Amino acid sequence: HLGNETLKAELGRAGWKLFHMTLARFPESPSLDERTALAQYLALFARLYPCGECAEHFQKLLAQYPPQTSGRVAASQWGCFVHNLVNERLGKEVFDCMTVGEAYKCGCAEEDEKKGK
Ligand code: FAD
Repeated sequence: HLGNETLKAELGRAGWKLFHMTLARFPESPSLDERTALAQYLALFARLYPCGECAEHFQKLLAQYPPQTSGRVAASQWGCFVHNLVNERLGKEVFDCMTVGEAYKCGCAEEDEKKGK
């Protein structure tokens, strides 16, 4: 249990960054195996998230709004949507999900193309 608000916020920013980056890099046309992997990854992310109260809330959110795994755009938009639900609960500003694709470019696309991925 992380009682310290500063640590919780720091963890949150790092956690969300990894979360959105993962969704931004998810394949545009995933295989069934990749879709299963994302669903399992997110379920375990929510379960093992190292802030107990956050994990509890987020698992409920995922049960109510199951991850969209049909492709990159659907997954990224879903991620933005659920982060906004957390924002609302914490009294934070809502993020414009139209900009989520631009906001989470990791710079690895070009490299992957060269490898023929
Ligand atoms: P953050 O919410 O951390 O966002 C970081 C950056 O992401 C923002 O500056 C913005 O650029 C961008 N962003 C904002 N909204 C979106 C969006 N919808 N889509 C894409 N990008 C966006 N804290 C608690 O106190 N209680 C909780 O129950 C709790 N649960 C959490 C559950 C999870 C799964 C995670 C990852 C974090 C949780 N947190 C919780 C932490 C909290 O959400 C914030 O991370 C923390 O308060 C720091 O907030 P922040 O204002 O810096 O912005």
